Amino acid sequence: MTDRYQQFAGTGLGRAVVRRLGLPDPVPLRRYRPGEPPLPGPARFGGAPGGSLTDPVGAALKSAGIDLLTEHDQRPAALVFDATGITDPTRLRELHAFFKPELRRLGPCGRVVVLGTPPDAATSVAEAIAQRALEGFTRSLGKELRRGATVQLVHVVPGAEQAIESTLRFLLSAKSAYVSGQVIRIGTHGGTGGAEPEDWDHPLGGKVALVTGASRGIGAAIAEVLARDGARVVALDVPAQGAELAEVANRIRGAAVQLDITAADAPARLTDYLRTRHGGVDIVVHNAGITRDRKLANMPEETWDAVLAVNLTCQPVINDALLDAGLLRPGGRIVGVSSIAGIAGNAGQTNYATTKAGVIGMVAGYAPVLAQRDATINAVAPGFIETNMTAAVPLPIRAAGRRMNSLSQGGLPVDVAETVAWFANPASGAVNGNVVRVCGQSLLGA
Ligand code: NAD
Repeated sequence: MTDRYQQFAGTGLGRAVVRRLGLPDPVPLRRYRPGEPPLPGPARFGGAPGGSLTDPVGAALKSAGIDLLTEHDQRPAALVFDATGITDPTRLRELHAFFKPELRRLGPCGRVVVLGTPPDAATSVAEAIAQRALEGFTRSLGKELRRGATVQLVHVVPGAEQAIESTLRFLLSAKSAYVSGQVIRIGTHGGTGGAEPEDWDHPLGGKVALVTGASRGIGAAIAEVLARDGARVVALDVPAQGAELAEVANRIRGAAVQLDITAADAPARLTDYLRTRHGGVDIVVHNAGITRDRKLANMPEETWDAVLAVNLTCQPVINDALLDAGLLRPGGRIVGVSSIAGIAGNAGQTNYATTKAGVIGMVAGYAPVLAQRDATINAVAPGFIETNMTAAVPLPIRAAGRRMNSLSQGGLPVDVAETVAWFANPASGAVNGNVVRVCGQSLLGA
């Protein structure tokens, strides 16, 4: 879908008008192309004295092939700051001391990552206060930076220091182009973070991934990115989408399964299929979703039921069927697709938002269960993504949806897909129970 304003803002005249009038400036975001280095330039790494992540971050950046800046006059492509040493609010000025001199030098589509301790794992009241304060800092910085830059806060549970690499690689790379203002938790589940992939360019080699709603939009992008990363993808959609589904499956050399996931026999048919054809499954992405918008006062029962069935109630039934049959292999990954509507709420979407908040509940409910099986569950919560679903939104709401975020533009299906692929990575075993918004730091529900 064309964003005409973004096209205009990219012309000579458009740039002048945008600057003169102080209008939103949706710069083209850098997106990942296979073979590219994780970061287009060196990173500046600093930290508050006494932090616990100097060595783990240094090792992860080295392993990712990211150079560190030593001279102060060079331009960093990323700023990484270990804030775990900030154990008292008076020491928050370390943030000002590190970031202020660097911000103007940060390159285009720059990356800022602050690493801290989850406040609930703090060992003193002062540390809990200081660590919680980091969230206000990163969220505000995300709103100040321009030119496609993103900012995240990564909470590292004590003991999980060695499990940060897959997350750092994702957040520093162009794969996280539309993710900003997020707080991500890396836990001790998975020990060292799970198995490090032999090949970081194809981390899903040998894995089988099921993607529902894969014939178009976000689901097709997820299927493509997981296949690019080496997975054998089982692309599922309703029979009515059979032709488009076959096209996607052929393009990625995957398998196509025509099935309505809300059918009473869907869990049994799916488990039979995965058992006989693939001997199990490693990655399950519950992407299929529908909208049937109406104010609740005017909403027929069938409309409510249809949305609940596709977007929520069939998903735990499928999870349980896979778990009971022992088909989700060790190191398994379940990924839900929520929405900012499920976080912020939206008029006309009581049914949809109920399901999308329910997906967040599904993540919270299953996370400890899956941790015991050496598996994880996380969700993406997309904001405004350019798809058929958002093309159907009335123009004024669509225009506002695109602009009401720190990056002043809509995201692309691939942005959601890259986030799913990070959760699916074998090295992301310590990333469990997260809901990460892919929304360009939308103003909604922030
Ligand atoms: P889409 O309508 O383009 O694709 C959804 C797919 O799900 C379709 O191919 C559809 O046939 C399939 N599907 C629907 N019911 C099914 C069923 N019963 N069984 C099997 N497949 C079924 O939508 P999209 O924009 O690509 O959205 C994908 C997911 O992302 C949805 O869960 C949606 O709620 C979520 N999401 C999208 C946006 C956005 O901006 N587009 C924002 C937030 C969340």
